[in-house]
Amino acid sequence: MTSNAPFNFDVLVVGAGPAGMAAAARAAESGARTGLVDENFRAGGQIWRSGCEDVPAEAKFWIQRCTSAGVMALRGVRVVDQLKPGELTAESMDGTHKLGYQQLVIATGARERFLPFPGWTLLNVMGAGGLQAMVKSGLPIQGKRVLVAGTGPLLPAVAAYLRQHGARVLMICEQASWLSLARFAITLIGQTGKLSQVMQLKKELPHVPFLANSWPVAAEGNEVLERVTISHGGKLETIACDYLACGFHLVPNTELAALLGCQSENGYVQVDDLQRTNVPGVFCAGEPTGIGGVELALLEGQIAGLAASGDIRAAEALTANSKKLKNFADHLQRAFQLRKDLRSLAKPDTLVCRCEDISYARLERHRSWRSAKLQARCGMGACQGRICGPTTQFLFNWAPDSVRPPIFPARVESLAALANCREPAPQNVVGGH
Ligand SMILES: Cc1cc2nc3c(=O)[nH]c(=O)nc-3n(C[C@H](O)[C@H](O)[C@H](O)COP(=O)(O)OP(=O)(O)OC[C@H]3O[C@@H](n4cnc5c(N)ncnc54)[C@H](O)[C@@H]3O)c2cc1C
Repeated sequence: MTSNAPFNFDVLVVGAGPAGMAAAARAAESGARTGLVDENFRAGGQIWRSGCEDVPAEAKFWIQRCTSAGVMALRGVRVVDQLKPGELTAESMDGTHKLGYQQLVIATGARERFLPFPGWTLLNVMGAGGLQAMVKSGLPIQGKRVLVAGTGPLLPAVAAYLRQHGARVLMICEQASWLSLARFAITLIGQTGKLSQVMQLKKELPHVPFLANSWPVAAEGNEVLERVTISHGGKLETIACDYLACGFHLVPNTELAALLGCQSENGYVQVDDLQRTNVPGVFCAGEPTGIGGVELALLEGQIAGLAASGDIRAAEALTANSKKLKNFADHLQRAFQLRKDLRSLAKPDTLVCRCEDISYARLERHRSWRSAKLQARCGMGACQGRICGPTTQFLFNWAPDSVRPPIFPARVESLAALANCREPAPQNVVGGH
């Protein structure tokens, strides 16, 4: 199953995180002409995003496999649209490109969920993963006082990372209850890998208080963050700090899958045991099918890559393990479900859509996402509803609208150039600047 045109792939993988790298490596090892495209200049996705010297061993392993198998990496290339089935439109610094495929693996990962509270748009209030990414890119954090808050297993992971890089992590505020966390801990029994990760994080965070039933209610400061007020077990406490790293678990990036017509349920792309979506020739792996961590992302990626390249027997051999890990994803979802109290954090003048400066009070009058979009421009800014969409879903129970192309803001000249697309320059998988 090979074709000779340079950017016409047997298997094209969108997203070079763990799921995408595993998919590309397995597809190429099975003989498929494979392309791996990512908007970032380095492979690794969210978890393995790193500076030049700092690539974790597991990431190196998958990069090496992709390289040895002859995967063609297209770095700094963002997929924005589908021209027609079998042909994606992508954009890079060099212009607009057409990427042809026989089989497509969507491995577009997830992003953080933000919830609005007074002061959440103040300078130095950041997403937990966002602050970690900035530190990985060189933001000096040595000696800075950081309060980590929100919900989900990312919080302790980020806290440990920031501490290793010299931050003074003041505390971790987790909105879930102790009961929820205890139930979740029970599900980890028997999963030695995950238990040892928890124990390791505990060791890396000595003397850092972990508060359950806790969340930020206000961030204040004169232009830049100076203090955060948290609610802890019903009591308010104000803490001076330099950064608030705050994220409320993750939401999957399903826009490309939706654009292609893939079915979703409860926000996640629906796939069968071999990661096939309802659209023929389109597979999906990793966080868009459920937030389940790096182990599941790697496994789903491998299954998708093998199945997409036609090695069904090898793909089927991996499915038993993925079922076990998918159960873990369900437990995660339940344990870190958002409590209703968080719906009342925003005040009337708190911004909800920060791209278009739309306050909670202006949104309250609307009955649906569509009405808020048409009449108040909610979700019409640069993030295209990626931030305020999941927020308004939680606050007002609004169902998200249909996805319109391009799925990311694209340059006018690059859209106009679609008729005359060029092929992006291939690179090695690891990337660099
Ligand atoms: C901000 C953040 C930080 C995280 N940090 C940690 C951590 O420290 N430890 C941990 O255990 N887990 C962390 N996670 C969770 C971790 O990402 C998952 O467990 C898992 O690794 C996801 O793998 P993936 O391949 O599904 O997605 P990702 O790793 O998210 O990879 C998806 C890739 O797709 C690319 N992409 C998306 N859309 C397009 C497009 N249209 N065109 C081109 N490229 C595209 C993205 O740039 C990204 O590189 C983090 C998650 C997030 C959102």
